[in-house]
Amino acid sequence: MEECIFCKIVKGEIPCYKVYEDDHVLAFEDINPIALGHTLIIPKRHAENLYEIPDEDLVAIHLAAKKIIRAMREALEPTGVACLQLNGKGANQVVMHYHFHLVPRHAGDPELPITTWELKPGDKDAIEETAKKIAAAIKS
Ligand code: 5GP
Ligand code: ZN
Repeated sequence: MEECIFCKIVKGEIPCYKVYEDDHVLAFEDINPIALGHTLIIPKRHAENLYEIPDEDLVAIHLAAKKIIRAMREALEPTGVACLQLNGKGANQVVMHYHFHLVPRHAGDPELPITTWELKPGDKDAIEETAKKIAAAIKS
């Protein structure tokens, strides 16, 4: 993955503000943070997104996320931490190397639009039909 910016960060060809690393993952500060402490966790092996990431790396990402948000709670005393991950251009994924956003939240921070959508009851028939479609397509 010659062109991938996050692979370059893993290789040390582009600098980053590292907060954590282990055999499988690297975590560093987002260069355009929504809030101070906005951190990205990435697998060291290139995978585009959740469609592709190997299970072993996905597990490592989530274990690292738990470690890091506990550290954020101690170091930054946030009121919460939002964990976000986008898949595909239609979901606004910009960097095509899997990354898990950790965004510490504090009182008075601007709302994150994705966490504040209006709750309106849906059409139950459409919900049920869609659930069946997804369930039927699930592979083990
Ligand atoms: P996405 O929309 O794909 O989930 O978000 C990509 C994120 O990567 C953005 O929040 C963006 O600020 C961050 N980003 C893009 N290029 C770089 C970079 O070179 N270094 C760092 N640290 N973050 C980056
Ligand atoms: Zn990559």
